[in-house]
Amino acid sequence: MSMRKAENIDEVLLDLLCAKGQLVAESLRNSKISDVDINSKNKGPYTTETIKQVLQALSDEEFKNTEKMTKVYLHSRAFQEENSVIHVGNELIGKQQPQFIIGPCSVESHEQVYRVAEEMSKRGVSLLRGGAFKPRTSPYDFQGLGIEGLQILAEVARTYNMSVVTEIMSPESIAEAYDYVDVIQIGSRNMHNFDLLKTVGKLDKPVLLKRGLSATIHEFKMAAEYILNEGNKNVILCERGIRTYETATRNTFDISAIPILKQETHLPVFADISHAAGRKDILLPQAKAAFAAGADGIMAEVHPNPAVALSDAKQQMDLLEFAQFMDQLHHFLNRFFVST
Ligand code: PEP
Ligand code: MN
Repeated sequence: MSMRKAENIDEVLLDLLCAKGQLVAESLRNSKISDVDINSKNKGPYTTETIKQVLQALSDEEFKNTEKMTKVYLHSRAFQEENSVIHVGNELIGKQQPQFIIGPCSVESHEQVYRVAEEMSKRGVSLLRGGAFKPRTSPYDFQGLGIEGLQILAEVARTYNMSVVTEIMSPESIAEAYDYVDVIQIGSRNMHNFDLLKTVGKLDKPVLLKRGLSATIHEFKMAAEYILNEGNKNVILCERGIRTYETATRNTFDISAIPILKQETHLPVFADISHAAGRKDILLPQAKAAFAAGADGIMAEVHPNPAVALSDAKQQMDLLEFAQFMDQLHHFLNRFFVST
């Protein structure tokens, strides 16, 4: 019988699937396709080599699909149906109660952080944020106070019985920062820093993972997977706006990310309304929208005198604005959660 070499692989594939379906099915079931197997069944017209190539391609495709379909990610609802609840100080994050992470963009002085914390404590807010290691666009801009900034945060937090949420930018700073920090923030610019993700994955402290500047929801979830895969189960996701063509806001607040992340993962989801907007006149509607969409909490920046802030001056609320913001938001939340 004459054997012919395939010119067009699609033709061969079609032929094999239609006429030699049995052979394909059998060979796919065997992980190894041997020449002997094929030879014993191959009555032509195709060469054993051609059939082997097609079967291998089919087998690879089948393997990829099966893997995709059967892989259960640690962040997924398939892995864990119930919501993860993360303990931070006296707060339970992810347990239906709206949570707030508040504080200045950068730690600038003891007095500055103290005044913000004083205002927070009047409103029962105990998650204190502030950047000590700052990821700035320009190397000439204020880079943060480093360890001194962490010491300030820890001191103020102790005074008011609060917990410190602060960004760590590199695996090398973790050791010296460790004792001052309650929640390690991975900033947007570091969401793809896999070494950093793996390092914080080995720790026993909660991690607030911010969505990358241009990360898809899938990439965001997979960044969380890096942390979970190392053993740290305490991951909080934070939507903080993504880069789009829009210039009216600093970023585009992706409200749809919140219900999608809540649906597809068991992790708590926060919304950083300050970095999403880059302006403070729309913080209240953004916060309402975030909670209405299912967020477990929001993050916002507050500074006693935003005009002289060393970073993000335009988007930080002053103390009075913060007080009004919280009053109005609580009014909304009481109405919203009672009537739904
Ligand atoms: C921050 O929260 O201090 C910050 C720099 O935000 P992001 O990483 O989202 O830009
Ligand atoms: Mn900021």
